[in-house]
Amino acid sequence: MTSRVIISIRGAVQGVGFRPFIYRLASELQLKGFIKNNSTGVLIEGEGEKQTLDNFINFIREKKPSLAKITGFEFSFHEKNSYKSFRILESEETSETSAFILPDIAICDDCLREMKNPSDRRYMYPFINCTNCGPRFSIVEAIPYDRKNTSMKNFKMCSYCQNEYDDPTNRRYHAQPVACPECGPHVELWNNKGKVTETHHNAILKLVELIKAGEITALKGIGGFHLVCDAQNDDAIIKMRERKNRIDKPFALMFPSLESVKDVCYVDKIEENLLLSPESPIVLLKRKYSSILSPSKYAAPGNPYLGVMLPYSPLHHLIMKELNIPIIATSANISEEPMCIDEYEALERLKNIADYFLIHNRPILRHIDDSVVRVVKGKVMVIRRARGYAPLPLEYDIHNNTKTDNNQVILAAGGQLKNSIAMKVGSNVFVSQHIGDLETHEACKAYKNVIDDFKMLYKAEPQLIVKDSHPDYFSTKFSNNLKIDSRSIQHHVAHIASCKAENQVKGSCLGVAWDGTGYGLDKTIWGGEFFIVADNVCEHICSCRQFPLPGGEIAIREPRRSALGLLYEMYDSSALNFPVIQNNFTFEEISILEKMLRNKTNCPMTSSVGRLFDAVSSLLNLNQKINFEGQAAMNLEFTASSNETGSYHFNLFGDSFITIDWQPIIEEILSDVNSGIGNSIVSAKFHNTLIEIILSVSLKFNEEKIVLSGGCFQNSYLLEGVIDLLEINNFKVFWHQRVPTNDGGIAFGQIAAADWIVRSKITNF
Ligand code: ZN
Ligand code: ZN
Ligand code: FE
Repeated sequence: MTSRVIISIRGAVQGVGFRPFIYRLASELQLKGFIKNNSTGVLIEGEGEKQTLDNFINFIREKKPSLAKITGFEFSFHEKNSYKSFRILESEETSETSAFILPDIAICDDCLREMKNPSDRRYMYPFINCTNCGPRFSIVEAIPYDRKNTSMKNFKMCSYCQNEYDDPTNRRYHAQPVACPECGPHVELWNNKGKVTETHHNAILKLVELIKAGEITALKGIGGFHLVCDAQNDDAIIKMRERKNRIDKPFALMFPSLESVKDVCYVDKIEENLLLSPESPIVLLKRKYSSILSPSKYAAPGNPYLGVMLPYSPLHHLIMKELNIPIIATSANISEEPMCIDEYEALERLKNIADYFLIHNRPILRHIDDSVVRVVKGKVMVIRRARGYAPLPLEYDIHNNTKTDNNQVILAAGGQLKNSIAMKVGSNVFVSQHIGDLETHEACKAYKNVIDDFKMLYKAEPQLIVKDSHPDYFSTKFSNNLKIDSRSIQHHVAHIASCKAENQVKGSCLGVAWDGTGYGLDKTIWGGEFFIVADNVCEHICSCRQFPLPGGEIAIREPRRSALGLLYEMYDSSALNFPVIQNNFTFEEISILEKMLRNKTNCPMTSSVGRLFDAVSSLLNLNQKINFEGQAAMNLEFTASSNETGSYHFNLFGDSFITIDWQPIIEEILSDVNSGIGNSIVSAKFHNTLIEIILSVSLKFNEEKIVLSGGCFQNSYLLEGVIDLLEINNFKVFWHQRVPTNDGGIAFGQIAAADWIVRSKITNF
């Protein structure tokens, strides 16, 4: 099938023969499309068979002109445009060039080579960088991006560095963070009282020794601190989990080399390229078992995937070369707060977690977490957009067909969990780095800082703010206090707008928004919604049957409450007698909950598919309480057998508005559980049923294009199953690529939906 790939390449790719190279390559592969220079590099569109496009992407990386330096490489697949030929287009207006702040980029091969060369003056220097690599966004204080406006301003360049900086033929010409051991930052090892125990390379060697001895350490990196320990040391990880109060949420890992990753995980070509890319994200990889480098079972308990990254800063390279074993490298924070960026703050916040701190004196000006990506059906799917990607704009023409004044600056406030913000300036939408859950003082402070940052960096004052319709979100309240026009966008409408816009879906489509929680137009909690979007009119056309959530918010952390609500909706008070309820609540709890359910107090109604996952997880006794978001659904996914093709019955009611009734599913699950059918079968049948539900609803409407968004589609069993089944039935399916499918994609969607008209005719079941 013909597909179209959009490739955005940043770096030194202009004036080095890049366009003729792409032209020849495209011609050889008989691709149609174009290449043009833009303000940060080149933009390429290629049309052809998917396999040919994959080859095209690989050849660009492998055969690029030797002078070309790539510092960013993002691509996404789209519907074909029916180009007639491959052309080199005239360059775009570059008036916006100076406003672009680049992301932090992994060390380049040239710098790595110098760092390993004993006769180089930057031999083993942890802050080596050049025009093509190193920190950017994390050290910018103001624009223009100039040394005096970065956190390097207090380091006076030595004459050697200054000469390189001033020499237009040097690869460090105007590299703002340029430094060497004589004039630049250095590292120190501190104990948890802040006492310096070692400095310079000895600090690194001592850190390595401490990690090997099972100590918990904090490491100042590019966008903040990591907590680091030996990934194969059970005791160290258990200690870290206890101190960080992180019971079993998976930890990210850093491996010493690509080879070592391949030893432990399955790595395909796309995943390999991601690991080695300038963005250098955490890649979710399917793990192999039984390798000598396999991490401890406590690193990612019960999880068939590992979140893996390679060293990306020179400091990481030095440490990993000495260690030569995988380490846990998790954001240094308490629960979901933003990462610590300052050593004194780290000492204060982490003194009871880390025993030693490897710090340096190059200030980090803003937190930027590691990005997280996975590959789904041959396409990249960004789950957390941060280091390496932020704060670059997404070059999507989302204003096709919209009425919003193109010169209006729009700020999108985002959601509550996994928050990011976005700002539209001219035709660009800048999406911020992942900020996190706006539930702590630290996160809310970071949120305000990011908004101030964006206004400063892009010299823009928002004229309109788009926000979630949830009245109690921090982002909503914050928006309400700004004295500018605002508009509310329903949460799931924003999800669909986000996916539709990033995929450049033209014309009408059916949008499926499945997630944990979102404030509905009828003030109930939504999360199992379908919409038809045509010409900016978004119509809510289908939802799941609702059930009460006893305790409201608390139910998110206790899947047993979802199970109770579901059973109560089906069986009224006799639900309280079910073994799953009797076994998992105390008598006192049951009598209180019964009263709440009967009187409908603090029992909001929900149509959330995320809560349905929770309920089923509870019925299968997988999780009654959870300690991180999505845990029960993840467990249910990982439990599912991939060989089971069976499913359960369900009903669809209504004509103009469809209600999905899950009651037959739950009845059959209860009966399967009673007859001793294993969880792997029940879970697979449950997943298969949800996949069939999406097909059945899709078949009722006359839409060829189906857009999938919301946190539930992080579940790859569900996502891949839906894609397969819909494609077999000749639907065109779109899911997220560069924008997160979880609430990290809400801000982008809020901008895309800024002038959508939303209609809803909800009928009660
Ligand atoms: Zn470099
Ligand atoms: Zn120097
Ligand atoms: Fe959501």
